[in-house]
Amino acid sequence: MSCHRTSKRVALVAALAALALALTPATGTAGPHRAAPYDQQRCGNTSGRVLLSFDDWAYDDPDLAVEVGDYLASRGIRAAFFLINEFASRNPHVVDTLREQGHWVGNHTYSHRNLPDLSEADARAEIRDGLDSTLFRPPYGNYGARETRIASELGYRVCTWTVDTLDWDDSAGSFPGTDTLRARVRQAPAADKRGGVILGHLFTRFPDAVPGIIDDLRDEGYRLCRDTGPTSRNIPVPLNC
Ligand SMILES: [Zn+2]
Repeated sequence: MSCHRTSKRVALVAALAALALALTPATGTAGPHRAAPYDQQRCGNTSGRVLLSFDDWAYDDPDLAVEVGDYLASRGIRAAFFLINEFASRNPHVVDTLREQGHWVGNHTYSHRNLPDLSEADARAEIRDGLDSTLFRPPYGNYGARETRIASELGYRVCTWTVDTLDWDDSAGSFPGTDTLRARVRQAPAADKRGGVILGHLFTRFPDAVPGIIDDLRDEGYRLCRDTGPTSRNIPVPLNC
C-alpha cells in the first residue's frame, strides 16, 4: 500500500517537474536551449570550427573556384564562396560544381557596387539580382540598417567575417604573398578564429596560401568546417559546420 502511495507521489513530482520545465521559457529565464542571437560577423557559425570564405571571382581563370573547391573537399573541408553574379550567372557550372563538392555559395550582389552609395531601389536590385541563396555578403563589407533590412526582405541574412587577410590590398604594388597571408592568419586573435570566418578572394594569392593556412590552423589545434556532402541554395542557421 505504501508502495502504491509512493509511486503516486513520484508521478506527481515528475509531473510538476515537467510542468516547471515547460514553463521555464515563458518566464523569460535563459535556459540552456535558448538560441544565441545571430552574429553577422560569424554568419551563424556556432560550431567552434573555422569557416574559410572566398569572395568575388577568379577573373583570369573562372575554373579556379572549382579547383579550390575540389582541393578543400579532398581535405574534408567545407568553405563558403560569395560570387559576383555578373560573372557567376554566365558560368553556372561553377556554382553547381561548388555545391556538389559540398561548399556553400552565397550572394555577393550582381555587380559589386558599394551599396550605401546607391538609392534604395538600386541597392535592392543589386541584392535581388545577386546569386540565389540565403546568405548575403555586402561588397567591401559596407552595409547599414537599410542594407540589412533589404537583404532580410529578400530572404537573406548578412554574413561578413571575423578575420580579414587583407589579401586584396595591392597598395604596395602587388598582392601580399602566401607567407604574409599565412602569418596574418596565425597572428589573428584566437577568439576571431574559433567559430570565426576568414575572408579571402579568388583573384589574389589567397587560394595559393590556403593549403598552408589549413596546415597552420590544424597545427594550432583549430578545426575547420567539415564537408558532409552536397549543399543547396538554403544555407542553414546555425551553420552545419
Ligand atoms: Zn567582394
